[in-house]
Amino acid sequence: MPKHLVFVGGGHAHRTALAGLRDTVRAGHRVTVIGPSPYHYYSGMGPGLLSGIYRPAEARFHVKMMAQDGGATFIEDRVVLVDPVRRALVLGSGAEVRYDAVSFNTGSEVPSDLLHPSGEDGGLLVNEYLQCIGPPELFGGGDCVSLAGSPLARVGVFAVRQNRPLHRNLSAFLEGRPLQRFDPGGDYLLILNLGDRMGLFRRKGIVRSGRLAFQLKNYLDTRFMRKFQVSGELREPLEE
Ligand SMILES: Cc1cc2nc3c(=O)[nH]c(=O)nc-3n(C[C@H](O)[C@H](O)[C@H](O)COP(=O)(O)OP(=O)(O)OC[C@H]3O[C@@H](n4cnc5c(N)ncnc54)[C@H](O)[C@@H]3O)c2cc1C
Repeated sequence: MPKHLVFVGGGHAHRTALAGLRDTVRAGHRVTVIGPSPYHYYSGMGPGLLSGIYRPAEARFHVKMMAQDGGATFIEDRVVLVDPVRRALVLGSGAEVRYDAVSFNTGSEVPSDLLHPSGEDGGLLVNEYLQCIGPPELFGGGDCVSLAGSPLARVGVFAVRQNRPLHRNLSAFLEGRPLQRFDPGGDYLLILNLGDRMGLFRRKGIVRSGRLAFQLKNYLDTRFMRKFQVSGELREPLEE
């Protein structure tokens, strides 16, 4: 039976699912994407953006275009309230969007009255399927979720690792198939861009700073961006 799937926020954990919207729509489902801007900026590239290393068009995804290209509806607004009993999202404009399933990827600033139940770090409490421990129609990924039993650091690597399992589980939930576990993996590479073409590298207790760390982060970040900048981002003027 056709269902209505809603994506709230176009963050990092939603990339694969948003890239696969066409398949979800072809399967007969209706999809809506809600975000406060047509663009989603990758916060990890923020220091590079502010220091002039990147131009805006290099550090953002055109979420609205991606949604529309995939056959979904884009609503430029914020979700301010979730009513799981009526399966309704209330938007800043006062409008209501009803859903059969909804996935949140709204970043680390999660208003305490938005996502329930919440874990110890304030994120939506989810199980190993990235499904809410509470209303089963709620899913999520990235910084706005709290993995029950082992809350994850709020770093890009987990949002990236959640991409495929979240996409698979949203499709499985719509189709009534079994969900698959998300494995957060072990130790991870963390590189912070210090903003002056220098980076801070940390892996397995080794910490180094320098240009090489920045170059590695730049390579990984731009590779990830290019993979999902498929909605005309790179044809937009670089100067703004
Ligand atoms: C300055 C900075 C530097 C960082 N550097 C690094 C780094 O070097 N390495 C690293 O691993 N991690 C870094 N991080 C963390 C990393 O960027 C995030 O963990 C990662 O991007 C995951 O974010 P997200 O997709 O969950 O959320 P976000 O990237 O915050 O995206 C959330 C999206 O949801 C939208 N949204 C928010 N509220 C609502 C709402 N109510 N309704 C609808 N839409 C909404 C927002 O507009 C946004 O598009 C950094 C973060 C910051 C802020």
